[in-house]
Amino acid sequence: MTKLTDLSMADALAGLDNKDFTSVELTEAYVAAVEGGTSINAYTTQTPEKALEMAAAADASRAAGTAGPMAGIPLAIKDLYCTEGVLTTASSHILDGFTPAYESTVTSNLWRDGAVMLGKVSLDEFAMGSSNETSFYGAVENPWRAGDGKSRVPGGSSGGSAAAVAAHMAVAATGTDTGGSIRQPASFCGLVGIKPTYGRCSRWGVIAFASSLDQPGPITRSVKDAAIMLGSMAGYDAKDSTSIDTPVPDYAAALTGDIRGLKVGIPKEYRLDDAPAEILALWDQGVDWLKAAGAEIIDISLPHTKYALPTYYIVAPAEASSNLARYDGVKYGLRVPGDSLDSMYANTRAEGFGDEVTRRILIGTYVLSAGYYDAYYLKAQKLRTLIAQDFENAYASCDVILTPTAPSAAFGPGENADDPISMYLNDVFTVPASLAGVPGISIPAGLSGDGLPLGLQLLGKPFDEETVLRVAGVLEEAANFTAQPNNWWTGDKS
Ligand code: GLN
Repeated sequence: MTKLTDLSMADALAGLDNKDFTSVELTEAYVAAVEGGTSINAYTTQTPEKALEMAAAADASRAAGTAGPMAGIPLAIKDLYCTEGVLTTASSHILDGFTPAYESTVTSNLWRDGAVMLGKVSLDEFAMGSSNETSFYGAVENPWRAGDGKSRVPGGSSGGSAAAVAAHMAVAATGTDTGGSIRQPASFCGLVGIKPTYGRCSRWGVIAFASSLDQPGPITRSVKDAAIMLGSMAGYDAKDSTSIDTPVPDYAAALTGDIRGLKVGIPKEYRLDDAPAEILALWDQGVDWLKAAGAEIIDISLPHTKYALPTYYIVAPAEASSNLARYDGVKYGLRVPGDSLDSMYANTRAEGFGDEVTRRILIGTYVLSAGYYDAYYLKAQKLRTLIAQDFENAYASCDVILTPTAPSAAFGPGENADDPISMYLNDVFTVPASLAGVPGISIPAGLSGDGLPLGLQLLGKPFDEETVLRVAGVLEEAANFTAQPNNWWTGDKS
């Protein structure tokens, strides 16, 4: 018999509608899975009592015929989303004990639609990283292990989100993506992750990293689940001045399976000489799948691609250095006393921030300083405009763009930890779309030579998540990715 925790969101919703089981039963199964999976270290805070209360309310709403589209579905929430009355840490020491008095708009939308919160999940500190190793609460393990049996990172920064979903410790999870933090962990953990268009989901109540890039989105086990969950998360919010006032379509209805005549662009600049052969082979395979489904394949050029990483690693730290100025020991979390106000600030920040966050604050402060602003920040802003124009030009001749999601499968703990540049190279395929603000999705499409998931990325036109999801649905069906990690964390090898 299929375990309740093995059901996709779409199947769980059907089972709930059918009265095959209740949300309380489903939630109890997940609470047990969360408790049994602590060795993965995905959850930083578990909220089982709250979950069961919310599940009971969802069951009551279903009985009353007022159930929302996510009613009774247990979720993991990235610990970057403020949750009222529930510890919110951004996986940073500096937010010790911070319990928000308000709820983020996106999580409010999910609760409005009946979803259930299992708890908060780990991330790279303040969402800065690609491996979840910079979390103050310790590294998270990828539920997938390579053929050699050694552990792998889950990707980042939404590593706890992806690990929780891949280990069936949540039906789905919220993530945030600033330069790839939804798409890359989804790729590393064999999941679907969509970064919507900038402005599609409200950033209000999501702790800011780089405000012009940050975008909430779901990490799920299927494209349909992503469509359902994005429909709940998205929407205009007057409290976020960059939120866009445009109706939220029925994303699930976009999954027609028909992509005949659709134009798929293949950007030549993404064919990196040093990319592993298996990544390029999977990309070619993706092209063949889409061709077989009736799409037209078009060679395109995104000429400024090579500037995307250096541009991102100026713009993102610049905004981070400004956003993180608020953590001073006065307003939130940690305070380390000193013999003057200034030394209290300095002591708090020195102790409260980890190395990667400190590095970004230093870089950001440097590129914004009077003497270097024109040379770095201003130049990066100009390049960002050129990168966005590349996409605009490309979309004159194609509807979506197909690329790999990441240049490798999940790597081992510590492998890139001492070399920030090699860690930053992980974002090479995801960062351009973040700079341009266009939507992107990662779909599990195959396994690496040593048995780890590999993802393909589809990028779309601004606010055209429907086409992105439709093509993703076709790729998902063609790839038929059914592999699962082997449950080492439960001791059950079935
Ligand atoms: N890995 C990238 C970084 O460290 C992206 C992070 C993110 O998208 N939050 O900045």
